Amino acid sequence: MSDALTAEVDRSACKGHGRCYMTNPEVFDCDDEGFPIVIGVASTAQELSDLERAVNNCPEQAVSALRV
Ligand code: SF4
Repeated sequence: MSDALTAEVDRSACKGHGRCYMTNPEVFDCDDEGFPIVIGVASTAQELSDLERAVNNCPEQAVSALRV
């Protein structure tokens, strides 16, 4: 099984602070209104660490990591 993770965002909870996509460009982009869009996966050690930080640092607890 792959160690890669992707993300899921609870759009009803997200407030568009941008912490997730500013620090995880391989996983998130943002739409025209500043809300995150999941575009990829985290697979390197640095990317996995960054995604873990995004999950833990989202002020709205709107980010979850998922196995791919
Ligand atoms: S950090 Fe959380 S609240 Fe902010 S844009 Fe990302 S998912 Fe939304």
